[in-house]
Amino acid sequence: MADSGKLLVRPETHVALFPSAGMGHLIPFLRLAALLVRHCRVTLITTHPTVSLAESNLISRFFSAFPQVSQVSFDLLPLDPSTVNSTDPFWIQFEAIRRSAVHLLSPLLSSLSSPPLSVLVYYVFLISSVIPVVESLRLPNYILFVSTARMFSFFAYLPTISTASSAGFVSAFGDALEIPGISPVPRSSIPPLLLVPDSLFAHMFFTDSAMLNKVDGVLINTFKELEPEALNALNNRKQSEQGFPPVFAVGPFERLEFEEVDQCHAVSKWLDKQPEESVVYVSFGSRTAQSRDQLRELGEGLVKCGYRFLWVVKDKIVDKDEEEGVEMVVGEELMEKMKEKGLVVKHWVDQEKILSHKAVGGFVSHSGANSVMEAVIYGVRILAWPNNGDQRINADVVEESGAGIWVRSWGWGGDGDHYEVVKRDEIAEKVRELMESQSLKVKIGRVQEEAKKAAQVGGVRDRAFMELIEMWKMKNL
Ligand code: UDP
Ligand code: UDP
Repeated sequence: MADSGKLLVRPETHVALFPSAGMGHLIPFLRLAALLVRHCRVTLITTHPTVSLAESNLISRFFSAFPQVSQVSFDLLPLDPSTVNSTDPFWIQFEAIRRSAVHLLSPLLSSLSSPPLSVLVYYVFLISSVIPVVESLRLPNYILFVSTARMFSFFAYLPTISTASSAGFVSAFGDALEIPGISPVPRSSIPPLLLVPDSLFAHMFFTDSAMLNKVDGVLINTFKELEPEALNALNNRKQSEQGFPPVFAVGPFERLEFEEVDQCHAVSKWLDKQPEESVVYVSFGSRTAQSRDQLRELGEGLVKCGYRFLWVVKDKIVDKDEEEGVEMVVGEELMEKMKEKGLVVKHWVDQEKILSHKAVGGFVSHSGANSVMEAVIYGVRILAWPNNGDQRINADVVEESGAGIWVRSWGWGGDGDHYEVVKRDEIAEKVRELMESQSLKVKIGRVQEEAKKAAQVGGVRDRAFMELIEMWKMKNL
């Protein structure tokens, strides 16, 4: 408190954002930065090097568009990949960031002194590296959870199961996990690597969820009408359990102009020529590669469904590794067949530009959390086809909210034990259902209306931000 007689000068609120690897994480952090910079000072911590080209490109476009946001470089310490139990480059990067943060984060945050830092907002799998640092700096810390509130309920529930390890977790429940307040999570929807006791994913999940009560708050890109049950349940838990962090539904996040990419001109031109709501858009996000067998079956299914389609093929997890052209990957014969009604590309597209195009009527999606929210914003109904990680849990959100449908019998993607190629006839049938169902159209329209309301000026999203920023300001006094 200022001495009486002295003028109280509130230092400016200064937020540092610390995302992790991959576009699905970077994009929501950048959109959050853009929302926050209207009200406070923002510093973005950027990891070098990035895994994908898409990330480094987007970061430079972001800083050109938002010169008022400060950039601080977080230069990764070398990591021996043989010490990491994963082959996925993004997960190896997560681990590299976790390990580097133990050494580098404290001096980096201490150097952000003008004005002094008010709060750190960071990625969930950094909790165990970040907590000792923010505790010693006495800095409030918040998570931006880059998935759904339902997935967060699942994550936050793990420490309450009587086992602290994934080995015990596997046997701790039967066919489904009953989490108070939300529909049960069947064993078949649990991220596969969580059931593999020594996986890096399981290690992060258990270590970090156990420290959740040291987090001051959690931001999620969602809104009440999309996930009423999960948000209520989380709120109830906060009321009844000391130390459980408050959850702020700060969505929907919207695409910003700097995200536009030139590569998409041909796509836009093609869409301009298609009739209204006639096209099904097919994409599995930024880091889900499908097997060649599945890709070909999917292509045949799209031809069979009879609808026009725009398909973004992904053959490799990381964009830099994509070497072969689309003809090579799906085969020339199939490519020829697809030309009649489809446009097939194999590069980064401007997804929101596509979803907002009037020609697009349906979306076959892996149900990554960002993709789900983007489809909701533009009122494009979803056929969720979860391939990995949180995606089956998100697919429940798609169905329960009315944003679309999913087929539970379609297994996980990839090449693990549970992998089974989904056949063309089934794909064609479900795509037809997606495009033809009137009730789906009505339901997604309702969800879209709610998203618009949440995002309007003075709506719940703005109010959630004002509440957060006020809280951060108070901590500054
Ligand atoms: N995205 C895009 N163009 C692409 C692929 C993905 O703009 O070609 C964007 C998409 O709009 C979303 C993000 O990348 O904002 C992917 O996040 P999501 O949570 O859907 O899935 P992830 O890629 O993390 O699996
Ligand atoms: N993953 C992996 N190796 C690991 C841990 C995870 O390959 O040791 C992959 C997993 O196969 C899936 C993704 O990470 O592709 C699961 O991540 P999830 O979607 O749950 O997390 P998110 O990226 O949405 O935070």
